[in-house]
Amino acid sequence: MITQIKKVDGKSIKLAVNILRADGVIGMPTETVYGLAGVGTSSNAVKKIFEIKGRPSDNPLIAHVHKRYDLNKLVFIEQPYVKKLIKKFMPGPLTLVFKSKGVVVNEAVCGGETLAVRMPSHKGCQKLLKAINLPLVAPSANISKHTSPVTATHVYNDLNGKLELILDGGKCLGGIESTVLDVTDVVPRILRAGLVTKEMIEKVVGSCEIAQHKETDKVKSPGVKYRHYKPKCDTALFSKTQLDKVLELYEQKQKEGLKPFIMCSNDLADKFSGKNLLLLGTTGKEIASNLYDKLLEGEKIADIIIAVSFDREDGVYLGITNRLRKSCG
Ligand code: AMP
Ligand code: MG
Repeated sequence: MITQIKKVDGKSIKLAVNILRADGVIGMPTETVYGLAGVGTSSNAVKKIFEIKGRPSDNPLIAHVHKRYDLNKLVFIEQPYVKKLIKKFMPGPLTLVFKSKGVVVNEAVCGGETLAVRMPSHKGCQKLLKAINLPLVAPSANISKHTSPVTATHVYNDLNGKLELILDGGKCLGGIESTVLDVTDVVPRILRAGLVTKEMIEKVVGSCEIAQHKETDKVKSPGVKYRHYKPKCDTALFSKTQLDKVLELYEQKQKEGLKPFIMCSNDLADKFSGKNLLLLGTTGKEIASNLYDKLLEGEKIADIIIAVSFDREDGVYLGITNRLRKSCG
């Protein structure tokens, strides 16, 4: 199969809709990461998604819908606070987990009773969702466990030959996956941290918990237990208090004839002057936006990425730190 990359426009969206209606799958831009999308009401399409990615069969998919799509068609909205969350954060990088009405097929939710739904804010993605007027289930468009793609080229590098079309909507500005929030209970609970933070949710609805993913948890997010986001080169992860160790490993790798790169926030650039660097930016927002891009750049040019963590978990850093540990730890 030849994989074409096409800029999002009227013509490419028509082509995408035709492929999707025939149970095909495509690469789709969103504001978080690129998705591997298929129609959520088609078992055939969903099976293809799992097959192409090599995704574990117990890890459910998120349904993406247009901003004016009536969520009541797909799920039971039981908790009164949900309205406030929808008003404040949708469309945007927040995924809500509800009790499913079963319209999105069983294979997509891995036989579970809940469905995760999101309204992406990416304009090209919204145009596609409007044109198809169906829920599109879409995990990140990478081979399972590899780093999530944030450009159409990243998708191509992983999935070339496995799908007909990648819609190119530019670089994803968000850069890490959506926050997954269980809203089936009286208090909402974060199953996966992301760009919409605990603090932001609390401001709107008062309280918000963070799931600890213990066996006793009622609704688990199976995806969080898997090894994830791994670049194709060696990695090491150090705390900000271990900069001497970072330099020690860097020099050791150079002596071995290898090419190490240090990945860190811009404030540490001075400490590593003259070294090969992958700089992530200064603010949490910048770091989230650059993290996967730099990991995927790094795997091409480095033998080992030596990452320095941010040593904080407030706000968006909870999601960033979680991704950094899984990719480099
Ligand atoms: P991905 O699409 O690869 O970014 O992963 C989607 C994430 O959402 C994974 O962590 C899934 O486990 C989680 N997820 C999807 N559907 C559900 C659901 N019904 N209940 C709980 N978590 C879900
Ligand atoms: Mg993923």
